[in-house]
Amino acid sequence: MGIKEIHDGIYLIGSSDITDTKDCCVYLLNLGEFVLIDTGAGSSVGSLVANIDRLGFKSTPLSTIILTHCHIDHIGGAAALQQKYGARIVMHDLDAATLERGDPRLTAAHWYGVNLKPLPVDVKFAGLRFEMSIGSHELVLLHTPGHTPGSISAYIDKSGKRVLFGQDIHGPFLADFGANMRDWTNSMKQLLALNADILCEGHFGIYQSNKKLTAYIERYLEEYGEEG
Ligand SMILES: [Zn+2]
Ligand SMILES: [Zn+2]
Repeated sequence: MGIKEIHDGIYLIGSSDITDTKDCCVYLLNLGEFVLIDTGAGSSVGSLVANIDRLGFKSTPLSTIILTHCHIDHIGGAAALQQKYGARIVMHDLDAATLERGDPRLTAAHWYGVNLKPLPVDVKFAGLRFEMSIGSHELVLLHTPGHTPGSISAYIDKSGKRVLFGQDIHGPFLADFGANMRDWTNSMKQLLALNADILCEGHFGIYQSNKKLTAYIERYLEEYGEEG
């Protein structure tokens, strides 16, 4: 399996199938400048760079790396990619603190057998919503806690479709990682209310219609949802 174009200028460039078994799904957006959503576990940085080159955009700067949460399978490549491209790293404040102190337990680095160095985060947001103007587009980041306290989701309206990057919707939900099922339930309802057309998930790939996206999230809500 190779690189996949999901929608106009939105690509899947890394995953457990494409780059390394430890990697999350890694998405690349071409908004005139490149935006990367998550970075894999770290050992596949060379493959990610090759895939970015392969898209034929060597002249396009990679300006922004969005980290959806602090787990190593999402952040492991961030330091090397930040250095290579001079990109800014964007995270929610609550998970940024975990990365900035290189916490081996909360990042799951210890569990994955990865030696993680503390990494400074360039842009931290603390509210519920953070809007980024990139090129002529607006990329919206939403605080969607549950999987971790500082988990975020991103969405963009592009060429007639709303594309949602929900990342680790499926969990796992471990108290050791600060999971909170009431927060998660509210977060999932917030994602459903966006009425998005395409869901890009953190490990389980891409759901190409609102119907499939809704069914996917609702299945998890039935299993794990907690009212409160
Ligand atoms: Zn993950
Ligand atoms: Zn995770």
